[in-house]
Amino acid sequence: MKPKVKSDFDIIIVGAGMVGLTIASLLKDDQLRIAVVDKSDTPPVPMVSELESSNFDARVSALSAASREILKRAGAWRIIESKRYCDFSSMFVWDADGTGSVKFSAEELSVPRLGTIIENSFVIDALLENLYKKANLEIFRPCSIISLDEGDESVLLETEDNIRLRAKLVIAADGVNSKIRELANFRVREWEYNHDAIVATVKTESPHQEMALQRFMQTGPLAFLPLCTGLEIDCQDWSSIVWSAEPSYAKKLFSLSDDEFCFELTQASESRLGRIIDCSRRHLFPLRQRHAVNYSKRRIALAGDAAHSIHPLAGQGANLGLLDAEALVNKITEGLNAGREVADPVIMDRYERARKAHNLGMMGLMQGFKHLFADETMIVRWLRNVGMSSINDMSIVKNYLARQAMGLDS
Ligand SMILES: Cc1cc2nc3c(=O)[nH]c(=O)nc-3n(C[C@H](O)[C@H](O)[C@H](O)COP(=O)(O)OP(=O)(O)OC[C@H]3O[C@@H](n4cnc5c(N)ncnc54)[C@H](O)[C@@H]3O)c2cc1C
Repeated sequence: MKPKVKSDFDIIIVGAGMVGLTIASLLKDDQLRIAVVDKSDTPPVPMVSELESSNFDARVSALSAASREILKRAGAWRIIESKRYCDFSSMFVWDADGTGSVKFSAEELSVPRLGTIIENSFVIDALLENLYKKANLEIFRPCSIISLDEGDESVLLETEDNIRLRAKLVIAADGVNSKIRELANFRVREWEYNHDAIVATVKTESPHQEMALQRFMQTGPLAFLPLCTGLEIDCQDWSSIVWSAEPSYAKKLFSLSDDEFCFELTQASESRLGRIIDCSRRHLFPLRQRHAVNYSKRRIALAGDAAHSIHPLAGQGANLGLLDAEALVNKITEGLNAGREVADPVIMDRYERARKAHNLGMMGLMQGFKHLFADETMIVRWLRNVGMSSINDMSIVKNYLARQAMGLDS
């Protein structure tokens, strides 16, 4: 069959996840011809008033204040606000083996909230709602990219169903296993976290009271993220969990019956929210830290998980990706205003300089946390407990850590 060629794009964004769609939404120049391509066409999770574990998207993100502002500028926040979300006002972090604990509270930090927990599909849906109205933008889905050919003036992409798409700039926002990154031979540094993460929605005996919980165990961290409050739906007894553990233990937990899993989770959380009484289907994610050596190459730029993937223990992956999205769009816009071409190397260079050091810093911090809490030697255990309790007493350090996590200093 003869391929259909669509060659009239300035920018093709591969990946309609949170990052790709935010880039598309922030690109306000109506003169730019934009295509968004995604291999999946998953329908959004429906809004229903009868809540059961299967009515939630198991994938949620703790979004920072900075991400919230970016989504406002992308025109999506107004739509998200009419759906389900939870502004969390406190966070309790504690160490399984000792007495160390830290409590962060919005009140103490003089901020309205520490962050917002949102089901990923609601963010994606809100971004798409606006994008469907853009006359200069075409969405191709389900549509998987299988080959890439770089020319001097443009990049040619070919899809599984024989469509050829050509653009001056290709932005890879196609996630952790980015096909574009692979096809364009970007070099990537990878580290094994030696953790898999189990993700699920759970119902708890006691209300979460808008508090996020994180327990650090030697086997890995367990997080409870409070789900939707406000609006007419209040689900104080629903939380999303991310339980990271060494792969063989994670697989064992994953294969337990629902009752057994709820029991193990109640134990692991030290019943902070009472008994776990219901649990959705579980999802298992192998975790790897990856970082592309360069964020751009000729006419191709990487953003979000395609550029870097990070341990979810501090819930920063999407937050970093949204900062990439805004930085990339700002640099493109500044470049176009200065008369440059959309894939000008100066633009790509400025984008990489704006984001790489910040992303690397956050990745290093997460790696450090992971090692600190996995270490069982007496001295590290003592330092950890003393450290946590001291942080709790030191408002400057506590403030600094919280501001980093909330994206207030990025
Ligand atoms: C367990 C877990 C918990 C997390 N919790 C948080 C949190 O609390 N806060 C936070 O900030 N981050 C969190 N993260 C990280 C966050 O989920 C990711 O960083 C974020 O979703 C990345 O968004 P993205 O748009 O870059 O990639 P993705 O969301 O992976 O989107 C990539 C898109 O590309 C498409 N695609 C892939 N290949 C192709 C192809 N060949 N052709 C066309 N399309 C393609 C996919 O279908 C997908 O839609 C968590 C991650 C995990 C694993």
